[in-house]
Amino acid sequence: MRLLSLAFIALALAGCANSPRQVSQADGTTLAFAPGERQRSEPGPQVAMLRPDQPAIPSGLAGRTIRVASPADIRLGPKEVVLTFDDGPVPGKTDAILKALDRFGVKATFLMVGQMADAYPATARKVAAAGHTIGTHTQNHRNLRSVGPAVAEAQIRAGRESVAAALRPGGYRPAPFFRFPYLADTKALRSSLAGQGIVVIDVDIDSRDYFATGSDVLRARAVASVEKRGSGVILFHDLHARTATMLPLLLADLKARGYKVVHLVPASSGIDLLASAPWAPLPPSGMTPPDRG
Ligand SMILES: [Zn+2]
Repeated sequence: MRLLSLAFIALALAGCANSPRQVSQADGTTLAFAPGERQRSEPGPQVAMLRPDQPAIPSGLAGRTIRVASPADIRLGPKEVVLTFDDGPVPGKTDAILKALDRFGVKATFLMVGQMADAYPATARKVAAAGHTIGTHTQNHRNLRSVGPAVAEAQIRAGRESVAAALRPGGYRPAPFFRFPYLADTKALRSSLAGQGIVVIDVDIDSRDYFATGSDVLRARAVASVEKRGSGVILFHDLHARTATMLPLLLADLKARGYKVVHLVPASSGIDLLASAPWAPLPPSGMTPPDRG
């Protein structure tokens, strides 16, 4: 049942920022995934200029650190980017991403799904131990526009609690950072989050790594998107192998083009959100494998 649940999660998480396609299942539940997400077996040219076992590259890629108390604090200059990874942690893929980031000496923000942190707490702690910032992304990756406010608030809070519980044995806690699944926000939820001291991390550049292209295509598209905008917060997902595969090459591209990777950290770690925010318990169905969103 647990494995089945995780399979459902993996399917439902595909295509975080994309409009989900709803698919009714024989058992009456509904799964959502992005168009184009299904893997194709098309061979792509292999790009392997860097190998995982190569030593760390002395990097000029690391940029400044911004202390963030509200979304307005995320002001990036030309050629400054922020790397964000949603939907994990996923053993193997998240590990490979950590390795790539470490080789270039840069820090990212991971927006973790509570249910994934419940399943893989050691991987969540590994991200924290490597010095990256961890925010949250609901408990079950629900589309918060499609549920009522009580369920939405419960999803946000349960996600925070799960990620906090995964990190706690390592002495870590999540930053008060949040990203809406599918980027499906509402004005009321944004206002509620701001009132709780939680910062919504928006997306400027979508790598579209949820499309089943080769890692070389993904890399070229991501570089083109970054160059087109010139700076911004980039969305990736640490549940796709192609993302992990292309990341060292993309970081080399960004370095060669003079970009800097900015690290977002919370302005204050003193707010105990778990103790202070209002709590609405999830209905029992909310804790089962996701049926939408
Ligand atoms: Zn997502």
